[in-house]
Amino acid sequence: MNTAHKLARTPAQKLALRADLLDFTAAPSWGSPTLHGVRFRPDHWLMVGEDGRIQGAEPAASFTPGPDWQRHDHRGQLLIPGFIDTHVHAPQLDVIASWGTGLLDWLETYTFPAEQRHAHPEVAADGAARFLDALLAHGTTAAVVFATVHRTSAEALFAAAAQRGMRLVTGKVLMDRNAPEGLRDDVEGARADCEALIQRWHGQGRNSYAVTVRFAVTSTPEQLAMAGELGRRHAGLYMQTHVAENRDEVAWVAKLFPEARSYLDVYHRAGLLHERAVLAHGIWLDTGDRALLRDTGAQIAHCPSSNLFLGSGLFDWQAAVDIGHRVSIATDVGGGTTLCMPRTLAEAYKVQALRGTRLNAWTALHAATRGAAEALGLSHEIGHLGEGTLADLAVWHWAQGPVATHRDAVATGAVLSAAAPAGLPAQPLHARVFAWMTLADERNLAAVYVAGRQVNFRRA
Ligand SMILES: [Zn+2]
Repeated sequence: MNTAHKLARTPAQKLALRADLLDFTAAPSWGSPTLHGVRFRPDHWLMVGEDGRIQGAEPAASFTPGPDWQRHDHRGQLLIPGFIDTHVHAPQLDVIASWGTGLLDWLETYTFPAEQRHAHPEVAADGAARFLDALLAHGTTAAVVFATVHRTSAEALFAAAAQRGMRLVTGKVLMDRNAPEGLRDDVEGARADCEALIQRWHGQGRNSYAVTVRFAVTSTPEQLAMAGELGRRHAGLYMQTHVAENRDEVAWVAKLFPEARSYLDVYHRAGLLHERAVLAHGIWLDTGDRALLRDTGAQIAHCPSSNLFLGSGLFDWQAAVDIGHRVSIATDVGGGTTLCMPRTLAEAYKVQALRGTRLNAWTALHAATRGAAEALGLSHEIGHLGEGTLADLAVWHWAQGPVATHRDAVATGAVLSAAAPAGLPAQPLHARVFAWMTLADERNLAAVYVAGRQVNFRRA
């Protein structure tokens, strides 16, 4: 019997989940899909210990969990690691799907007025709870999140994530110029707020602090220097910002920082590029920038739905692969139009198609799970179904509605008929998963688990 969404599990009980298990053991190949790095275990039991950690998996055909295991039977459904959204703005749920602007006027017209409201603790707390519940309702169990400039907004997100046991990386936004009254801080005030937040939340449970520079335009050189100092003073801090999203923005940065070689170089000079740095977009970069990303270990959070919606440009993933810098995938709500990762991956495919390349489903899914976890230094905790990781999981219907159901049946027939003694057929399995990735959305979500506890994601 399917117990999803109904029963709260008694605390600290061993859990066995039956489903088709899909995750990655290594980075898949770029271009034509092969099975390199793909681990597909159809109809298996995933075993989760009392500590919420994955213990292993067994084929259902030859194994039945004993009576001391609570069983959740999701047979015929797809179980994957919970998605990791590496760039998203909690307060921007208020302005998602706002008409008629590109990046700079979108900020001024919609985003800044919305963010001002989060100065109020009640608004911030409501917003944080709504946002994290919405992530879970889209099968996303971990995220790197922008709060607002207000300390209370980051506080609210950390507290709400702790309550839910979720993995969260966030921080108070730094902005001391080119922003309206009520959304500006200053160097010393910001430093004090960051220090207090780091003290209280960084490394507490599953929370980590990110030094959060909105973008080069809204911080003075003095504030960028302070941000770099914070990162050097505290071990394990993340850094998140935006880079080279839009051509007008790039031109403005060049005017504000004439001494820098490029937009990305502004951050490098402030000591902000390192292996825990997450930079959204990275559309208008050159080869020198890409080499700098590779050499510092920083990652680009590619945000396809946002880039299409705001008309920012087409991210060059092929160039990232060629030079070897890290890429993860993110929704960037509210510039992005959905928190749903399958929809976002489908948009990523279309962006690459417009560039003349074909993104395979394995590369896309890896970038939103294990790839993101590795880029964040968190693959010991999340991103795959390996032993010892926390069971942050999402279970998906392979298909919803007549069109997807028919398409899945066609793909499943191909998977079965092509099953060769040599092992799994690469192309038919990819065809099925690609069709799922392209057609699925949050209505396909069947169950969500955070650290081995089932979440009632439909309560809202
Ligand atoms: Zn953003």
